Amino acid sequence: MKIRILLLLLLISTASASTKLFILGTGTPNPNPERMGSSYLVLANDEPYLFDYGTGVIRRIAAFSPSWGGEYQALEVENLKYAFLTHIHSDHTLGLADLIITPWIMGRSEPLKIFGPKGAKNMHTNIIKAYQPDIDYRIYGTQPQNSTGYKVIFNELKDKFVYQDENIKVTAFLNDHGDLQESYGFLIETTDKKILISGDTAMSKNLISYGENLDYLIHEIYSQKGFNNKTPDWQKYHQAHHTGPKEVAEIANLLQPKSLILSHILFWGSSEQEILDEVKTFYSGKIIVAEDGMIFE
Ligand SMILES: [Zn+2]
Ligand SMILES: [Zn+2]
Repeated sequence: MKIRILLLLLLISTASASTKLFILGTGTPNPNPERMGSSYLVLANDEPYLFDYGTGVIRRIAAFSPSWGGEYQALEVENLKYAFLTHIHSDHTLGLADLIITPWIMGRSEPLKIFGPKGAKNMHTNIIKAYQPDIDYRIYGTQPQNSTGYKVIFNELKDKFVYQDENIKVTAFLNDHGDLQESYGFLIETTDKKILISGDTAMSKNLISYGENLDYLIHEIYSQKGFNNKTPDWQKYHQAHHTGPKEVAEIANLLQPKSLILSHILFWGSSEQEILDEVKTFYSGKIIVAEDGMIFE
């Protein structure tokens, strides 16, 4: 009996120790109802770390929590304390008001820690200002509500910035998102996984220098077929800001990740299969076209 209990405890401890990657939002600025704004979550030792917070972020996380039929106690939204932001574009940040306020309403008492680029510095202060009447109503009205969990501690990123605690190491690196100087990708390392999130970027040499021995390379991509139909001025824009299938394949060939996860896809009328085929022409490794709600472990 004792041995059985020990085995069970061992199973539980290994289960919680294994890192899980949740794909929350795979979308772009286009309001595709199937694909929320950009957002990923890494669960390491049962501590959730969020990467970008596009539209729908909180409801996508809630769907994994027992309160809403999911199976991950750690993903009850009041547990969200850490968020990393690649860049200020709206498809990556429209969920910020929700991230600040909803987990607080649900019981978070600790301030939210955000690690973001310089340009994101005042977003949370202005959102809190905009919602101050609602915040005051909840704190000073008749509903029992803590007066701390809506607060934000902001930490500014720079190239090679490292955040580390007992569960995770996150390294921020500058990528190449056209005219936007303050744009980052993240290398995420835990005891058992190495994950790289490209952020929004054209082919980036800096990214490649961080991408050895990856379990998951999450890279953005646009459709080549769609690109070919764009006018020359839009082609110039997209080429400087985003990455085409041939380039994504080139990066994957250099880095050889265990899985290449295509996300933040600019479909421009193409199907998932067409995007997949465009990359497969140049790369033979494992490729996954990301969808909201996928879990990797
Ligand atoms: Zn984007
Ligand atoms: Zn962007």
